[in-house]
Amino acid sequence: MPNNERPAIVGIDLGTTNTCVAYVRNRVARVVPSDKGALILPSVVSVDGKGNLVVGGAAKDQLLVNPRNTIWGAKRLIGRKFNSRTVQEIKPYFSYEIVEGPQGEAAVMLGGKVHSLPQISSYVLAHIKTVAETFLGGEVAQAVISVPAYYNDNQRQAVKEAGRLAGFDVKRIVNEPTAAALAYGFNRGLDQRILVYDLGGGTFDVSVLDLQGNVFEVVATGGDTFLGGLDFDNRLIDYVLEEFRRETKIDLAQSPIAMQRLKGAAENAKMDLSLLSNVVLELPFITEDKRGKPVTLRLPLSRERLNALTSDLVDKTFAHCDRVLAEKNIDPKSIAEILLVGGQSRMPLVQGRAHQHFGRPPRKGVHPDECVALGAALLADSLGAADAVRLVDVLSIPIGIALPGGRLRKVLEKNTAIPVQKSFRLPPAKEDDPPFREVDIFQGEADGIVDCEYLGTLHLPTDAFGQRVNFLLDSECLLRVTVEAAAGAPKEMVLATRDTPASLRTALAEELERRRLQNDQQDSGRAVGLMASIRRIWGGQEK
Ligand code: AMP
Repeated sequence: MPNNERPAIVGIDLGTTNTCVAYVRNRVARVVPSDKGALILPSVVSVDGKGNLVVGGAAKDQLLVNPRNTIWGAKRLIGRKFNSRTVQEIKPYFSYEIVEGPQGEAAVMLGGKVHSLPQISSYVLAHIKTVAETFLGGEVAQAVISVPAYYNDNQRQAVKEAGRLAGFDVKRIVNEPTAAALAYGFNRGLDQRILVYDLGGGTFDVSVLDLQGNVFEVVATGGDTFLGGLDFDNRLIDYVLEEFRRETKIDLAQSPIAMQRLKGAAENAKMDLSLLSNVVLELPFITEDKRGKPVTLRLPLSRERLNALTSDLVDKTFAHCDRVLAEKNIDPKSIAEILLVGGQSRMPLVQGRAHQHFGRPPRKGVHPDECVALGAALLADSLGAADAVRLVDVLSIPIGIALPGGRLRKVLEKNTAIPVQKSFRLPPAKEDDPPFREVDIFQGEADGIVDCEYLGTLHLPTDAFGQRVNFLLDSECLLRVTVEAAAGAPKEMVLATRDTPASLRTALAEELERRRLQNDQQDSGRAVGLMASIRRIWGGQEK
C-alpha cells in the first residue's frame, strides 16, 4: 500500500511495445500486475466498433480487425514534426493515418478525430494509473517516467506532457539505461563500470555508467532510435512474403488483413525461436487462389535462418557500442558488467554476440522487461529522501544553432555531463542589420541542419545583439535558453525554444495589432522575422 507519509509515486517504463509500472515498498521495487494479471501492458490504443476507447491487450486484439483505428508504436512518433524526414520515411509502415497536428507536429487519426501523440500515450498512462491505484489502494498522483537516452528535447517534453494529460505530476524523466542500472546497482554499494545494452521494440540504446554507491554517473551514451525488435520482425516478414510468393505466385503484401496476421505470427515465431531451434509459422486461410480456393501459409523456420536474416542488425548494435566506447576512449576491459535490457535482447544471437564481443557473459538476473520500470520506481522513491540516489547524466545528442548556409554550430556537445550551462556571444549589431535577428536551435549529430531536429527559434531585438545567449540543460535533459538583454540594467529574458507555427502566428497577429494601434506604417522587423519563421517551419509554405 502507498506509504502514508509521502504521496504515492510510481516508476513507469513507457515502451514502444509494452508499458510497465513499478512501485517501492520497504525499499524493494516491485512491478504492479495489470488487471489481467500480466506484468506488462501493450502500449496500444484503439477505438472499437462501438466508438469506445480501448487500451492495452484489448486494443492489441483490434490490430487485426481494425488496423486503421489501432495506434501502436507511438513512441517512434511522439515529439516529432510531421514534416521531419523521419516521420515521412516511416509513415508508410503504419496501418493508421499519420497527419499534421495543429502545431506542425506528427499526430494520428483515431476514431475519425485527430489525436496528438502525447494524448495517445496519455491514454496508456491513464490506464496504468488506474491499474496502479486499484492495486495500491489509493491515489497515485506522481510518477517518474523513463525515455530512451537518445530522445531529443522535443520528445522528452512530449512524454512529460503525456504524463500530465494522464493526471500525473511527472517528477522526473529518466533515461532508460540509467533506470536499468539503478535496478541492478541500487543500494548494493558497488564501485564498478557497467555497460547497459538496451535493445527494445523500437530503439537501441547503449550507455556506459560508473557506479559508486548510489551515485550513477553516465560516462557515455549512444544508440539508434530506429533499431529494435520491429526491424527483426520485418526481416522475418520479408522472408516469409518472398517464400510464399515463390511458392504460390501470390503477393500477400497487397492484403492489409493478411499482413496484420503475418506481423503477429512473425513476432511470435521470432520470440519462440529464442527458446526453440525450430518452429512452424502457420496461418490457415491466409488468402485465396485464383479459383477462390483458400490457401494456407505454412513455413518451417529455424533459429539459424532467423539469425542469418538479422545478423547485420545485431552487428549494427555492437558497432554502436564500439563507437560509444571509442568516442570517450573507454577501454572495454574497464567494464565490469554487461547488462542486457529490452525484450529483443532475449534473442540467443544477441546474448552470444554480447559474450563474444565483450569477452564475458552478460549479467543474468536483471529482468529485461521489468528492470527499467523497477529502476524508475527506485529513483521515484528516493526523490527527496536523505540518502537519495544521485544521477549524473550526459547529453546524448548535441544541441546547437543554425549558421548561414545551413550548418549546425554545436553549443552543447554530445556526452557533456548535465546539468550544464554554456553561453556564447552574439555578433554585435551592424548598421544595416534588421532590428530583429533570429537564431534557430537544432538538435542532431549531423553537420547540416536538414538532418537535425528543429527545436525552436529565438527572436532577438536589437538590444540583444552582441549579448550572451545561455543554453541551460537541466538534469532531465530539458533545454531552457536565456538571453541577457543589454538595454538599461542587465535583464534576463527567458525565451521558449518551443515556438510552433501556431505560437508564431499568434505572435505575428499580436505584432500586427500592436503596429495597427501605434499606426506604425513601417515594416516591423519583428513581423518580418516572425513571418520568416512561419515559412521555415511550414517548409516554405505559409498557411
Ligand atoms: P521492449 O520494448 O523492451 O518491451 O521489447 C519488446 C521487443 O522485444 C519486441 O520487439 C518483442 O518482439 C521482443 N521480444 C520480447 N520477448 C522476446 C524474446 N523472447 N525473444 C526475442 N525477442 C523478444
